[in-house]
Amino acid sequence: MTRQRHSPAAVTAAGAMSPQAAQPVDLLVTGATVLTFDEANTTLSDAAIAVAGQRIVWIGSSREAARRYAATTRLDARGQVVMPGLTDCHTHTAQQFLRGKLVQLSRRGRLRMPPWRHYYLPYEAMLTEEDIRQSGLCAYLAMVSVGTTCFLEAGGPHPDAMGEAADAVGIRGVVAWSTIDADDTVPPSMRTTRRTALRRTEALMRRWSSHPRVRAWPALRQIMVCSEALQREMMALTKAHGARLHTHLAEGAYEVDYALARWGMRPAEYLDSLAVLGPELLAAHSVLLSVEEMERYVDRGVSVAHCAFNNYHVGVPRLLEMIRRGVPVGMGTDGAGAWGPLDLFQVAHAARIGLQLVHGTPNHYRGVISSEELLAIAVRGGAKVAGLEGETGVLAPGRLADFIVVDVDAHDQYPCHDPLFAVASNTTGAQVRSVVIDGRLVMRDREFLTVDAKAVRAGLDHHLEGLMRRYDVALRS
Ligand SMILES: [Zn+2]
Repeated sequence: MTRQRHSPAAVTAAGAMSPQAAQPVDLLVTGATVLTFDEANTTLSDAAIAVAGQRIVWIGSSREAARRYAATTRLDARGQVVMPGLTDCHTHTAQQFLRGKLVQLSRRGRLRMPPWRHYYLPYEAMLTEEDIRQSGLCAYLAMVSVGTTCFLEAGGPHPDAMGEAADAVGIRGVVAWSTIDADDTVPPSMRTTRRTALRRTEALMRRWSSHPRVRAWPALRQIMVCSEALQREMMALTKAHGARLHTHLAEGAYEVDYALARWGMRPAEYLDSLAVLGPELLAAHSVLLSVEEMERYVDRGVSVAHCAFNNYHVGVPRLLEMIRRGVPVGMGTDGAGAWGPLDLFQVAHAARIGLQLVHGTPNHYRGVISSEELLAIAVRGGAKVAGLEGETGVLAPGRLADFIVVDVDAHDQYPCHDPLFAVASNTTGAQVRSVVIDGRLVMRDREFLTVDAKAVRAGLDHHLEGLMRRYDVALRS
């Protein structure tokens, strides 16, 4: 990966203007080290970003910005880095309140196995719309606070309530309804028929089609609980709406064994036989892939969400091969079964350790992949997986203004010889100070401007108590 340092004037917007006239803009960030995350890793010192409406209109020197622009809101970012926001490509809004709960339960007594059937499904099955709204507020505030500006929901109950929470917090995202039509053993509230799944998914996509930041996509829970017809028709619906289809794939040995026993094919081969494996498919995890399945991913252009917090529990993901062969990859945090927080900086760190251990250490080789490249996957790769290539993931005039202001001068980051190294290696989400999404300052100096975070937290505390009481009752029944 090469780095270039340009003078700020090298990346200015086109557009002639009189030298005297100060042009009005909504937001002007000045004094920053701007990491554009373009292919050349362009870095600008003492740089400014001008935002009008939803978009970046200009990037250049702070000195020139002072002459050019009169801003409604100004943000002084001296000593800080400005970089594009991160995209969480696989997350479970509904499971947010359950994170850490199973560990607490395990301290009281032995857990029943498998957890997804005895703990996750009963939990999701009892959730009300208000539970999801609160869960969404909780999850999306957490995301913004660690620099995530866009999320792709894996699929859960009450997706409209997710959208309402995302709207309130000010985050960009895609909501989805989890569909299961072929397993009579899952709780009735989580089952549907093929026709209802298609009808409700289409209506959901239509309801959110004109929102500036929130969209809806179709989702399939996974191959073992969805009928062939549902999977084919959901892909047809996805194509008709220019959307993506989010699912879990190759995330457990049980799934591979099931597919081989039932269809004589491995999971990705089976989806390929249904013509579902294609550029519209976002296949979360994708850990247990054969050499042949990997070829099909490359040929068909399938997108992948790499969830490093739990992928390495499942097997050895072919992540390096995916990256080197051009498979679109982003990073995801996944649900309550993952051991980490909703912090994609930390997911990228975990991915580097995983890749080093698998591909480097056995050969006494340290140069497998850099932290900078893995952070770029969480930033630029995530934007591509979200279908936002050309819109987010790179800072440039004309793009959507989704960016974050990050400290690189904390005690545990000092000294900062190189800002890109600092954000890729020495930074977690806790160092994110301010967040701009869709041109709007959502968090300024760690204070939320869109919602009253204190009041939201008080509401969450109150709601969580009642919800956990109901869960305890559900687990006993
Ligand atoms: Zn998942």
